[in-house]
Amino acid sequence: MRSFEEQLQDAVELVQTSRRIVALTGAGISTESGIPDFRSPGSPWQQQPPVSYQDFIAKAEARRHYWQTRRDLSGQVADAKPNAAHYALVELERRDMLLGIITQNFDGLHQDAGHQPEKIVELHGTSREAACTLCDARSSMQELQQRVDAGEVDPTCTHCGGYMKTATILFGQRVPDAVLTRAREMVNDCDLFLVIGSSLKVTPAATLPRHALTRDIPLIIINLQPTPLDDYADIILYEKAGVALPPLVSALS
Ligand code: NAD
Repeated sequence: MRSFEEQLQDAVELVQTSRRIVALTGAGISTESGIPDFRSPGSPWQQQPPVSYQDFIAKAEARRHYWQTRRDLSGQVADAKPNAAHYALVELERRDMLLGIITQNFDGLHQDAGHQPEKIVELHGTSREAACTLCDARSSMQELQQRVDAGEVDPTCTHCGGYMKTATILFGQRVPDAVLTRAREMVNDCDLFLVIGSSLKVTPAATLPRHALTRDIPLIIINLQPTPLDDYADIILYEKAGVALPPLVSALS
């Protein structure tokens, strides 16, 4: 088996020859910014699994649970700053090598790191906005959180009465067609697919590297744990994103 240093050097050579890189990022890229992922061993979410979309719509108890757990998560997300891995991707954009980022994250840290907004596809939405589950009316998340903090246990849309939540995709909720189409277009146009901090177990995100593989696009995976696509990857770095990605990018000539 090749050492981490040898694999890193292989990755540098592959990235060096690429001009239209697409990065798929998952919760793992933000753990070093202090936001826990769902699937790593010891994640707080394993004691308290996230509420599904179906339960959120059908059960008042699930909505109460959602607003309780959101309080912890929103504190973590509000305090979080981009880490070295987020900034390494900005450096790829600065070098004109990055076609775009498809992220499963809703934390907004890629934007905070300084990417042009049009480079980012947020597959699972954003926790910085609130959305109605019925008419999709948007409002500020700060405003909605204030209503909850003021004692509203089940905040509803002021336009149509639908249940409000963050503009994120819960388990069991569909990714909007337009968002998925944009992500697929990026994959169709890329010359290297980079997975960073994703278990590749959540669909449709996990279908995107598979689609790239059917186009014979090289695949690099940077993840702490094995993924279902490891056997298909050209290079795998089982390392923290903040440890593996910055030296990879800074070694580019
Ligand atoms: P996931 O499928 O993205 O898996 C996270 C993966 O990251 C795990 O395989 C883990 O081994 C790896 N990992 C953890 N820390 C890492 C690090 N420092 N460097 C490299 N790899 C690392 O995500 P999930 O945890 O299963 O969450 C499911 C969904 O929940 C996500 O797709 C996302 O929509 C949402 N979520 C978002 C955030 C966020 O916005 N920051 C946080 C938690 C969950």
